[in-house]
Amino acid sequence: MSLQLLSDFSLLVHNTFGFDARARHAMHIDSVDAAVALATDPRIANMPQLVLGGGSNIVLTRDFDGVALIVGITGKRVIDEDDDAWLIEAGAGENWHGFVAWTLAHGMPGLENLALIPGTVGAAPIQNIGAYGLEMGERFERLSAVELATGERADFDRAACAFGYRDSFFKRAGRGRFMITSVVFRLPKAWTPRADYADVARALEAAAKPDAKAIFDAVVAVRRAKLPDWTVLGNAGSFFKNPVVSATAFETLKQREPGVVSYSQADGQVKLAAGWLIDQCGWKGRGIGGAAVHDRQALVLVNRGGATGAQVLELAEAIKRDVLARFGVDLEMEPVCL
Ligand SMILES: Cc1cc2nc3c(=O)[nH]c(=O)nc-3n(C[C@H](O)[C@H](O)[C@H](O)COP(=O)(O)OP(=O)(O)OC[C@H]3O[C@@H](n4cnc5c(N)ncnc54)[C@H](O)[C@@H]3O)c2cc1C
Repeated sequence: MSLQLLSDFSLLVHNTFGFDARARHAMHIDSVDAAVALATDPRIANMPQLVLGGGSNIVLTRDFDGVALIVGITGKRVIDEDDDAWLIEAGAGENWHGFVAWTLAHGMPGLENLALIPGTVGAAPIQNIGAYGLEMGERFERLSAVELATGERADFDRAACAFGYRDSFFKRAGRGRFMITSVVFRLPKAWTPRADYADVARALEAAAKPDAKAIFDAVVAVRRAKLPDWTVLGNAGSFFKNPVVSATAFETLKQREPGVVSYSQADGQVKLAAGWLIDQCGWKGRGIGGAAVHDRQALVLVNRGGATGAQVLELAEAIKRDVLARFGVDLEMEPVCL
């Protein structure tokens, strides 16, 4: 199999920050066979590789002196069904939101809270995407991947993926080693709404008994109202994770900062709203060069035009320093950084 090797490839439309970075080479990977063939392709032997989906969770801080592998493996189908659940497989290159809409249109609810998250199905397990009271890991069955160095195929079940809050094996020991080629989801037939999240609950007030489509529509409406549109103002969604602290650390912080916005966790720890911490440090609307903190959403860093990835990182470091100095809390970046 001979794949087209593109050279001096612009990544401008392949990252939602809209950074004008270039890759020495690029390849479009549209099948599992193509992914397997990479390991024995002499043209890219020993070359650094960067797997890219929709580029909505990556900060390109420089040109990439290697080969960008753009995943375009498509297809979605029900592969099994029993009394309890549907098992649905989707190609890694499928658009995530399109896939969620497709499951609902085919009468299989369960992913509606994750509507409108940009990017691809194949990237969803990388950081175990989550929003409005649901994490992808709760609907995950298994995934198939190809190890880039060997071309070997491997399946990962939920335990092997080690999902955490915006975290998985693929952000740790597995980082950069695999190309995910497809993901299988388990959607339970006994559907229960997840509509506790305040913004979503408000948007659903008029609906007496909201169904999955009503939740999907509410999530889409809330996201459109709250988040900047990356096609207009480049961004990668939430730039920092919400830090999780112990109950004791939280009590100490709360005595000093009574207004701190927080969410109790099932394990007794407390999640702090990173956006609130950043806002309190006076960063909302401020920036460095073309990189800035969004003027309504302190958790979102944006490219106001002409920003570089390096400027976004410089801004992120300045924010981290201020939050650490004032609150003693170490913010962790959510997107992957090149
Ligand atoms: C406006 C906006 C809102 C967002 N909201 C949310 C949100 O609510 N919740 C949330 O969790 N995230 C959110 N995100 C982040 C982002 O949408 C998700 O992380 C998404 O899953 C990234 O998908 P992608 O295809 O764009 O990945 P990319 O940005 O292309 O890649 C991200 C990482 O995954 C790796 N990767 C991508 N595809 C594969 C593959 N097939 N195999 C192996 N590795 C791969 C890349 O190498 C990279 O390390 C938001 C982003 C934006 C821009």
